[in-house]
Amino acid sequence: MYYECCVCKKTRQDAILHHFPCTEKRLTKWLKCLNRDDLKKASPEQISKLFVCQKHFEKRFITSKSRLIGKAYPTLFTEDEISSGIASLQNTENVDPQTDHSYSSRKRHFDHTYSRAEPLKG
Ligand SMILES: [Zn+2]
Repeated sequence: MYYECCVCKKTRQDAILHHFPCTEKRLTKWLKCLNRDDLKKASPEQISKLFVCQKHFEKRFITSKSRLIGKAYPTLFTEDEISSGIASLQNTENVDPQTDHSYSSRKRHFDHTYSRAEPLKG
């Protein structure tokens, strides 16, 4: 069985998968970088079962033993960023309307966690 990168949405046999950080401060940082509503709503237990593959981390965050340094956080998300290894700092600011379009038309049913991500309050 292979684990799945929650960013790529596919199993990665060619990249090391990393757990989300356990400390709240770093976890908040990761979630901010990932900018995903489903992850922001997810419980700590759900988060603990998720992985981010090493392709989303800049080289400066990776040790010679292929581990993440303490303050590492994911910054590479697009094909360009991953292949160049350089984060484009504006990627959260300029949202291309076309991108939104393709998201909705390419809706797939791998998001079974969505239905369970509703917080039970009260
Ligand atoms: Zn990935």
